[in-house]
Amino acid sequence: MELNLSNFSGQTAEEHEKHVKVLILGSGPAGFTAALYAARADLEPVVLTGMELGGQVSLTYAVDNYPGFPEGISGAELVERFQKQAERFGAKVEFDTATQVDLSKRPFKVQTYGTTYLADTLIIASGATARHLEIPGEKELTGRGVSYCATCDAYFFKEKNVIVVGGGDSALEESLFLARFVKSITIVHRRDEFRAGAILQDTVRTNPKIKFILNTVLTEIIGKEAVTAVNMKNVVTGEESQMPVDGVFVFVGHTPNTQLFEGQLEMESGGYLVTDKLMRTSVPGVFAAGEAADPHYRQVITSAGMGAAAALRANQFLEHASRNEKEEALYA
Ligand SMILES: Cc1cc2nc3c(=O)[nH]c(=O)nc-3n(C[C@H](O)[C@H](O)[C@H](O)COP(=O)(O)OP(=O)(O)OC[C@H]3O[C@@H](n4cnc5c(N)ncnc54)[C@H](O)[C@@H]3O)c2cc1C
Repeated sequence: MELNLSNFSGQTAEEHEKHVKVLILGSGPAGFTAALYAARADLEPVVLTGMELGGQVSLTYAVDNYPGFPEGISGAELVERFQKQAERFGAKVEFDTATQVDLSKRPFKVQTYGTTYLADTLIIASGATARHLEIPGEKELTGRGVSYCATCDAYFFKEKNVIVVGGGDSALEESLFLARFVKSITIVHRRDEFRAGAILQDTVRTNPKIKFILNTVLTEIIGKEAVTAVNMKNVVTGEESQMPVDGVFVFVGHTPNTQLFEGQLEMESGGYLVTDKLMRTSVPGVFAAGEAADPHYRQVITSAGMGAAAALRANQFLEHASRNEKEEALYA
């Protein structure tokens, strides 16, 4: 990506060079929790918020599965509390986005729109983006019947009729979870066969609550305050139809926000950063936490947990480095 190194005052990014002990990319649950732990270790972390302050969960109306809030809490309030708690111990939050990184040597160089950060350690908590259908009604009704997470929202659809869109493992697994709550599920898939594993397919097919519509795509989600129906189109015959439903669960994949690190950090095929169980990436001093490195759990609690672990490890890394221990000792 080409960078514009000038900021609004006409100064170059080099004139805004800042050295930090811990730089955190991302202001979701993983980023703010990493910031809390790093701040409490007196590491004066800087958090770059990226374009979405608070991350994905800030979009959701109710989080009912984060412990400590027995009545539930709105996603926006939860991450606001995360932020306040990290700031209370000295974390600095900058409304800026990393646009380029150089991880070839320490300190790591992270370019943003207005600043060049030189970071002794880097915690990548840049999250992931659920792929959308990009059809009318989807955006407007997200959180009002359109969901991307069965674990988070199934409870709100007790005895309701829902549609699941997708044909991979996660669509089918999430359908089985949903089936414990809802009255009926219709899985709508654009192909005539599923990509999911055979055993999983058999389990889904024998579930009496689940039926299928194949070779079909959703073209519109309808509703004012909440979802009431969907429009569909058969991709083989072109036939259009409408179906009344209470909810639409979309499982057409996630894209981790890791393009910035291509060629510099080891990644899985889907672009998720590879870490060991101590949240260390393939470059010593660079840690990753939350959905950027997690194709499996995708929850606030798990992302926050990884953020804490990454910060604890970053602290240890800096302590070793300050004693000038050899590279191998850093990973002992
Ligand atoms: C609608 C919805 C509802 C959900 N409901 C629940 C729920 O009820 N319970 C639950 O446990 N989970 C829920 N989830 C899942 C949960 O939101 C995620 O698991 C969690 O937010 C992941 O946290 P994260 O910190 O890894 O990343 P994210 O929340 O994805 O945050 C990523 C952060 O990185 C920033 N960023 C990206 N690129 C850059 C860059 N280049 N430079 C700097 N910053 C960058 C973004 O701006 C953002 O702040 C929901 C998700 C969605 C979409």
